[in-house]
Amino acid sequence: MPHGQDVEDDTSELTSEYECLQCGRIVEAETSPGTCAKCGGDFQNRAKSVE
Ligand SMILES: [Zn+2]
Repeated sequence: MPHGQDVEDDTSELTSEYECLQCGRIVEAETSPGTCAKCGGDFQNRAKSVE
């Protein structure tokens, strides 16, 4: 098992997309943004909805 090589270039995975369940607004954040600034709805991590 190789380890410790080529693991520092994944800057694109620092943020995840979160979608507001109420107004559908998409926000990119490193951690859960909490509640929507526009409607106060809850966010859902879109990266987890892989079926
Ligand atoms: Zn919203």
